[in-house]
Amino acid sequence: IKEHGKNNYQLYTDVMNEDAIQHLQLERELRKAIDRDEFLLHYQPQVNVSTGQITGMEALVRWQHPHRGLLSPIHFIPLAEETGLIVPIGEWVLRKACEDGQRWLQEGRKPMRMAVNLSLIQFQEPNLVETIQQILEETGLEPRYLELEITESIAMNNVEQVVAKLERLVNLGIQISIDDFGTGFSSLSYLKKFPIHKLKIDRSFITDITSDPDDASIVSAIIAMANSLKLDLIVEGVETEDQQTYLHRLGCFEMQGYLFSRPLPAQMLEQLMQSWLP
Ligand code: C2E
Ligand code: CA
Ligand code: CA
Ligand code: CA
Repeated sequence: IKEHGKNNYQLYTDVMNEDAIQHLQLERELRKAIDRDEFLLHYQPQVNVSTGQITGMEALVRWQHPHRGLLSPIHFIPLAEETGLIVPIGEWVLRKACEDGQRWLQEGRKPMRMAVNLSLIQFQEPNLVETIQQILEETGLEPRYLELEITESIAMNNVEQVVAKLERLVNLGIQISIDDFGTGFSSLSYLKKFPIHKLKIDRSFITDITSDPDDASIVSAIIAMANSLKLDLIVEGVETEDQQTYLHRLGCFEMQGYLFSRPLPAQMLEQLMQSWLP
């Protein structure tokens, strides 16, 4: 038994080492990925189902890894956050998204907002506001077309500091939305303290909404709250006609999800938008 135990332990450390080595390898590659221009953005439209218009796009980062193929953010964003590399990566994302958004406007497409995800680590960066201001100036995108998606996790931080920073962003003219709304563990009191514009109801409440009365109640309650707080509202993860109809009846008009479009490269979306133009 002793022998066996020892072998198990041996095996365990080997696996650990392999994991640690892989981790280090990925970190090294992630450091080089910006210089090597290996990131790209896919965009997913946000649709107003009453008008049928695209009201916004969410920028979602991908990593074209030299050997591993196209990596989704779940495979590298956590590591990027751990190592702080999310700061330069996030800056690249912001610049690219603003560039594409501005190009679409200049091509005469219907005005739409560009929504960009912002990690807590990025939000805490002392230079965030200056960086964003500079990116807006460089790309020429008007601030009102930029929306930052932050999560409830920011509410866990020093309230005065968060409010001050959000106010600086909002004073630039930028929109703020709360991503994955309903999944955080923070109290809701931040909703009255923070200058925010929009709630984005998390996909986990939408998946079973047509069959699970609890999910339906939660979503109704969030809609009622958003309405009385005069906050905009969007739901994400809408995959079926039934979900769309149900949500529309509950009073939700802005939606995002595979039903309308998967996240796509800019070029493919440009073709889609062409066919969506009146
Ligand atoms: P998120 O911000 O909640 O983004 C929505 C995710 O749901 C995206 O996954 C999107 O492809 C997926 N999705 C959209 N519609 C549907 C649907 O109808 N059904 C299902 N099942 N999924 C849907 P993705 O692109 O893999 O991104 C995952 C997460 O990675 C994002 O979740 C976000 O937290 C993070 N992320 C992505 N891009 C960035 C970025 O540029 N910066 C930061 N900090 N995080 C990012
Ligand atoms: Ca998001
Ligand atoms: Ca989300
Ligand atoms: Ca999420």
